[in-house]
Amino acid sequence: MHEWALAESILTTAVEAAEKEKLKTITEIKVGIGELQQIEQDIFEFALDEIIKEQGGKLKGVKITIETEKSTLKCKSCENTWKFNDIKKKLNEDESEAIHFIPEVAFVHTRCPKCGSPDFEITTGRGISITSITGEK
Ligand SMILES: [Zn+2]
Repeated sequence: MHEWALAESILTTAVEAAEKEKLKTITEIKVGIGELQQIEQDIFEFALDEIIKEQGGKLKGVKITIETEKSTLKCKSCENTWKFNDIKKKLNEDESEAIHFIPEVAFVHTRCPKCGSPDFEITTGRGISITSITGEK
């Protein structure tokens, strides 16, 4: 249930940032979730709602907008970069499902489209981050 821990840390970070900026209320928090982040978005949103209800304060009435961040991969051999979306199209349903839950699976099924090397890294679109916080002073 790491969705709850993630939701809590997002909200804690937002409240801390709002305190720093001397905001009385937070009106909107934009959260970016990487395409390759292992998360159940339903549970995550539910957790956010529950924590907001419980905490109130600056978070009362806050709107949470969740955006998906596209993942980019980078070849370690030739430095070519490409989008996770491009390889996703070539996978069958079972494979893309597996990658959704275990991003490392992407490494097994993917080769650099340019040089064919299986040695690459995920450069963007992994993890969760706050992309913006809007509030009122
Ligand atoms: Zn390459």
